[in-house]
Amino acid sequence: MTGLPVTPRFDVVVVGGGIVGLATAHAVARTGRSVAVVERESALAKHQTGNNSNVIHSGLYYAPGGLKARLAVAGCAETVAFCREHDLPHKVCGKLVVATHPTELPRMAELARRGKANGVEAHELDPAGMREHEPHVRGIAALHVPSTGICDFRLVAEKLGELVAKEGGEIHLGRTVHSIARRASDVVVRTDSGDLIGTQVVACAGLRCDELAKASGADPGIRIIPFRGEYSGFGNRAADLVKGLIYPVPDPAFPFLGVHATRGIDGHVHAGPNAVLAMAREGYSWGTVKPKELLGTLTYPGMLRVARTHWRYGIGEVHRSLSKAAMVREIQRMLPDVRAEDLHPAGAGVRAQAVRADGTLVDDFLFVDQANINGGSGAGSVLHVLNAPSPAATAALPIGREILMRLTGDSLPPLGAA
Ligand SMILES: Cc1cc2nc3c(=O)[nH]c(=O)nc-3n(C[C@H](O)[C@H](O)[C@H](O)COP(=O)(O)OP(=O)(O)OC[C@H]3O[C@@H](n4cnc5c(N)ncnc54)[C@H](O)[C@@H]3O)c2cc1C
Repeated sequence: MTGLPVTPRFDVVVVGGGIVGLATAHAVARTGRSVAVVERESALAKHQTGNNSNVIHSGLYYAPGGLKARLAVAGCAETVAFCREHDLPHKVCGKLVVATHPTELPRMAELARRGKANGVEAHELDPAGMREHEPHVRGIAALHVPSTGICDFRLVAEKLGELVAKEGGEIHLGRTVHSIARRASDVVVRTDSGDLIGTQVVACAGLRCDELAKASGADPGIRIIPFRGEYSGFGNRAADLVKGLIYPVPDPAFPFLGVHATRGIDGHVHAGPNAVLAMAREGYSWGTVKPKELLGTLTYPGMLRVARTHWRYGIGEVHRSLSKAAMVREIQRMLPDVRAEDLHPAGAGVRAQAVRADGTLVDDFLFVDQANINGGSGAGSVLHVLNAPSPAATAALPIGREILMRLTGDSLPPLGAA
């Protein structure tokens, strides 16, 4: 006798096959629980995780006591240990944060203070000292941060997926989750090709996390505003001007770190990312426009407030996006020998930045239990990751352990711990 197909059931279902979802699934699998990852693309890490600067951040920038500070500092060491254990390309090359104007010095001092409070080693350098690290850099002072590194987060994510599968977890690709419904004792995850049931569900949907929360009946209290970050590749001559990582002093009004020069793990040098409003959630170029999504962004009260407060900065970023000469001038502040003919377009990533209706750009990571955002009733629990911008790739392994702890109370040791 053939019955109705049985809905697959797991201890935990994770929505999203980016590095945060995969690190969460990996932490769950380490405890012996059953887990499934549901990803709408045909491959893992197609969005933020696979299109970023690939910098293993030290934890220097983040407000002491916040999640970003704690999880980035832990993630920096853990990502390096993970890459080492699994023979993934990485390098702890250190980085310079360079002040080019006296007005930046107080902000640089604040970074040094934050670094100290977060337990991150940072050394103040004069121009001669900074040129020992980067002979072609120009500035009036710098911070050298030895623990910053580089890797390939796509490879890290793929390795996590491999480990989840090895532990018996399931990875479902090409499957879009439409909604998540809490029931008396579990949670139904509705996808375009059938349901899955989880005792608990974690939604790590990056650029679409607010949309998914809403579709599940919960008011996320934020909207994701997609900010594209474009990169410029350096030709061979200019690449010789950069040994490692050269960053500006960031503007504290924004959660972005400013256009920096990076020598990647493959040896290529690029500068970026800038930050321009994307015309679609996955708007990787000016040509990708989704009118409905754009209208939703532009009419969101929080976006209107961001535009009113930061219009000057926004116009500057658009100018640098559309004018090569403007981008070159930005890079020349730190690397005066770079010329326009040295640069070529080198792809883009889109950041999922949570913005509140009052125009606040959410700074810290944001993990919210659906029960607390009016998402129906029932004992099955759902956790929404509603803000996981940079440095969430660096912090992903501790984020996965943090989410596991919030879901189950289980606390796992960091990977690579003796
Ligand atoms: C330009 C740029 C530069 C950055 N540089 C750095 C850096 O140097 N260092 C660093 O640490 N961090 C950096 N970041 C941040 C980092 O990339 C992100 O914090 C991190 O990748 C977030 O991972 P995620 O898994 O939350 O999101 P994502 O990688 O975007 O994954 C979310 C996944 O969910 C899937 N999904 C969405 N909706 C659904 C649905 N309904 N059903 C099923 N699946 C769904 C998507 O397809 C996607 O694969 C950068 C980001 C950008 C954009």
